[in-house]
Amino acid sequence: MNSKSGVLSGKKGIVIGVANERSIAWGIAKEAFSNGADIAFSYQGKAIEKRLRPLAQSLESTIIEECDVTIPSSIDSFFSKVSNEWGKIDFMIHAVAYSDKEALKGRYIDTTKENFLRTMEISCFSFTDLCNKAVNIMPDGGSLLTLSYYGAERVMPHYNVMGVAKAALESSVKYLATDLGRKNIRVNALSAGPMKTLAASGINNFRFIMKWNELNSPLQKNVTQEDVGKSGVYLISDLSSGVTGEIHHVDCGYNTVGMLEPSSAHEISDLLKKVDFE
Ligand code: NAD
Repeated sequence: MNSKSGVLSGKKGIVIGVANERSIAWGIAKEAFSNGADIAFSYQGKAIEKRLRPLAQSLESTIIEECDVTIPSSIDSFFSKVSNEWGKIDFMIHAVAYSDKEALKGRYIDTTKENFLRTMEISCFSFTDLCNKAVNIMPDGGSLLTLSYYGAERVMPHYNVMGVAKAALESSVKYLATDLGRKNIRVNALSAGPMKTLAASGINNFRFIMKWNELNSPLQKNVTQEDVGKSGVYLISDLSSGVTGEIHHVDCGYNTVGMLEPSSAHEISDLLKKVDFE
């Protein structure tokens, strides 16, 4: 059991979606551990297991199990292991998304039906599905958190079908919040600014997107793992006891801005020379 004291002291939770040390889920897990939480981790496939295991062990995790969100038996066996080991949990973090790389360039209109459904299944439905399992081991209430992006609300270059999936995910957060509110289970999304992760590497011109955000957000920087981690702790802890159905932006304020900052125009025009305009 985690001996650290903090706002999550004595709390136990599941983190789904750590692929490596750059993962957003890893940033939240580290902060949660520093604040006293015990964490169970899941991975998708052997390659990720190899990278996850030493990370999870560095946070004294005793539950590190496979959970592929597209395979019902894999989800069931993960939740059985958590239930057998701990009996109950207080929080779950869902940081899972997938779309075919080909769909994350060019136009949204060219998305195939197959990839549309796959993207929705992994990036949206899986949260509802996992919440459905998690509530069975949350008798005392708790907090369910997913990760979103501003591409759900506004059109972002190349985000395409993932933006549509995130819009559905954000809407499902609100429906789930109402379904589960009576059980004192809160459901929220953390809408993070762009960060260099494995999933983000599939998005065309991602470096340009990062630079644009840095130059045009009120805080004039991109978010760090620590920024997102600390806000994640707020959302999974009692610090946010009155917050549910919320899409909480952790993006250095970028979502509040309506126009390019004139002082950044020069730098942007240099960057544009390196952009792939496909
Ligand atoms: P990441 O690549 O580190 O994490 C994505 C995770 O999804 C991986 O751990 C991967 O194993 C998991 N995953 C994919 N398919 C799965 C499946 N079938 N079963 C189980 N797990 C599966 O990238 P990340 O950027 O940390 O992404 C985490 C979340 O944050 C995603 O929802 C992403 O959309 C969101 N997000 C990312 C950014 C960004 O700029 N990186 C910004 C806002 C929101």
